[in-house]
Amino acid sequence: MVALLRRVTRLLRSLPAEAGPTTYVAPAIVEVDVKIPTKGKYKTPDKKARGCVVHYTARPFDRGATDAKSTLQFLAAQGLGCLVMDRDGIIYKAQGWDEVAYHAGPSTWKDTSGVSLYCMGMEIMNAGMLEKHGDTFHACFGGEIPPGEVREVQAKDNIKAGFYHRYTKAQEDALINFLLWQIETRGMDIDWIVGHDEVAPDRKQDPGGSLSLTMPELRALLKSRRDAAQHRSSP
Ligand SMILES: [Zn+2]
Repeated sequence: MVALLRRVTRLLRSLPAEAGPTTYVAPAIVEVDVKIPTKGKYKTPDKKARGCVVHYTARPFDRGATDAKSTLQFLAAQGLGCLVMDRDGIIYKAQGWDEVAYHAGPSTWKDTSGVSLYCMGMEIMNAGMLEKHGDTFHACFGGEIPPGEVREVQAKDNIKAGFYHRYTKAQEDALINFLLWQIETRGMDIDWIVGHDEVAPDRKQDPGGSLSLTMPELRALLKSRRDAAQHRSSP
């Protein structure tokens, strides 16, 4: 497994971030030696990603770094690229923050099309939307998901009704932490933190009910955390 990893850039999850009062800790990010075709710089004034699209992989997920690298290679072979998060909340990264990698396909947000040109992508490893056969739940790539890991949801906001493989608590915590880190250190715009199912609603179901919050609820949570941190830092 060690051979898969080129360089550990940050493994400081338990340490508080250095700069100012914040609500995040430095996320665990592992750089992986996978080549993703760059599509140039983001189409934003500062050339940085304005936001982040939340996905699920709907691919094999239980071999940690091995499956994360396999997912990055699978995406790269199609000219796509994303951050990938394993079930423990560790993030795997194959390219620089400021280079575009397609991940959202035909997509629109706030009257802007081609969301990949404005947002990085975060693929969170799980089985995605599930099929129920009798009392059992099945992934699209085969295999059964234990009922305790399944969330049944009704349609609400971005979420389409159905059965979803839940993100783990470690994944949800790591996602929120990563986004707060991006918001506070790189100026990510919370209103551009979106679900794939929000920017391509006719084609996509992710993250849907895999996330315990709807995307509007996630944005509201991030705003309240950011505002609380700013309030603590003001004199
Ligand atoms: Zn997606």
